[in-house]
Amino acid sequence: MKPLSIGAVGVSTVVESLRVPMSFAEFLPEAAAAREVLEAARPWLEPRFAELGADPRAGVGFLDFHTYVVRTPRHVILVDTCIGDDKDRGGHRFFHRLKTPWLANLRAAGLAPEQVDYVMCTHMHADHVGWNTRLVDGRWVPTFPNAKYVFARTEFEHRRRSFEAAQGAGYGAYADSILPVVETGQAVIVDDGHEVDGHLRLEPAPGHTPGNVVIQLASRGARGVFCGDVLHHPIQVAHPEWSAAFCEDRVQSAATRRRFVAAHADTGTIVMPAHFPAPTAGRIRSHGGRWRYDFLD
Ligand SMILES: [Zn+2]
Repeated sequence: MKPLSIGAVGVSTVVESLRVPMSFAEFLPEAAAAREVLEAARPWLEPRFAELGADPRAGVGFLDFHTYVVRTPRHVILVDTCIGDDKDRGGHRFFHRLKTPWLANLRAAGLAPEQVDYVMCTHMHADHVGWNTRLVDGRWVPTFPNAKYVFARTEFEHRRRSFEAAQGAGYGAYADSILPVVETGQAVIVDDGHEVDGHLRLEPAPGHTPGNVVIQLASRGARGVFCGDVLHHPIQVAHPEWSAAFCEDRVQSAATRRRFVAAHADTGTIVMPAHFPAPTAGRIRSHGGRWRYDFLD
């Protein structure tokens, strides 16, 4: 994504992985079943957002993994911290013990970890909290020594309860990417509606996870929104009824997605999802009784 300005706030991305191919059958099952819909969307989807092949039911969509860097006049804020390096994710083919240039990419963007003031996570799935910490001498330590990590209370409490119920065996990302930050006193647990820096505000968007939030950005009359995994792939803007396989409550996620798409359509708000391939950011517009996603570039 090209760096952009929303009012007085600059937004850019730090990339972990680009164009990770996932079969629609695996991540968006209703899409895989909708052969005619995919076929009709082929000219728009290929080659940037999907590779459908001869039978679109066997096609793959592309997902990016990136962190948003938000520079307000006073602070540097990160939104969603990808998968992270070295994390034990049980052999998962996209997540397990990665080695990526994410930290080098952060530095190349002109940022040292010490300069980050706030870290925010839309939810606590492993691909949104990974770089909260890094492995140093066999211990997980906060990657950003001077940052406050802002966590939504509902999500945090849900993960904490499951982790404690499983006596530590349940959810690796809580142990290696959340707890170390709590232990250094850097975690700030906040309620919905909480504001950071006067520019960012948490808004509940449950379904993908119980405490999932979107982060609204407003500056000088301009608006943006970091919507995390409310949307995984641009085709869901036209089909908000399609939840991803990773949504913990797929029915609630679909209702939240529909509400999100309708609320932001034709408003000029710049939408910044967690996994849309480049050019990533865009606007939602109503179009012939449905909605569509217009990329900024
Ligand atoms: Zn995700």
